[in-house]
Amino acid sequence: MIKIHQARKAFGRVQVLNGIDIEIAKQRIVGLVGPSGSGKSTLLRCIQGLERLDAGEISCDGPVGFIFQDFQLFPHMTVLQNITYAANIKNKDKDNEKLANELLARLGLTSKAHAYPEHLSGGQKQRVTLARSLMIHPNTLLCDEPTSGWDVATTSDVVTLLKSIQQKGMTLVIASHDLDFLAQIAERIILLKEGKIGADVTLNSSSAYVEHLKELCNST
Ligand code: ADP
Ligand code: MG
Repeated sequence: MIKIHQARKAFGRVQVLNGIDIEIAKQRIVGLVGPSGSGKSTLLRCIQGLERLDAGEISCDGPVGFIFQDFQLFPHMTVLQNITYAANIKNKDKDNEKLANELLARLGLTSKAHAYPEHLSGGQKQRVTLARSLMIHPNTLLCDEPTSGWDVATTSDVVTLLKSIQQKGMTLVIASHDLDFLAQIAERIILLKEGKIGADVTLNSSSAYVEHLKELCNST
């Protein structure tokens, strides 16, 4: 469950969030769309508590996982070390490695467990950050442009994985340009525009409707 009430956030003179109200029920997958600079990343960062609102309130079921747009993997650690690092600090346990290996297998990364991030493609790094965020058993998962660098096959694996996680009770908010991806996974799409909510719709997966949303995102 995520509740956002009258959220406001400015950077200098730019009022990025200008009174945003959103309620997202538990176990929903919501897409967040909008033109570049419309505040999608800022809103996710405020939900996570990485950024403070100027006014308004956000409450959210924890723990909250975050998949960053720019990966933020440790370059001097292997894939497996990156994934287990935070979980091991919290609770040093053999099960951490078992869970990490299961997640790597589900994401098609078993052969990369001992590789360093510099030897991975963008899509592989993104899947490693997904595995890492799932180690903390989040109730809420925030994803910032998760599909950048993925190919079609990877996207369908990740859609399957995220849907199976949703079944276990997780709420997901996914900021993305990629409406074709969101159409496969999201039940609801929220459009941010000029600091406000420009549209908030329950998704009907007809392609004509997705095209209509694309137009809404691209028109300024
Ligand atoms: P989106 O993810 O939709 O592309 P962002 O949330 O990244 O949009 O950015 C929204 C606006 O806020 C942009 O104008 C951006 O330049 C500005 N902005 C974001 N973060 C900062 C920051 N830390 N300092 C100053 N301006 C920022
Ligand atoms: Mg962004």
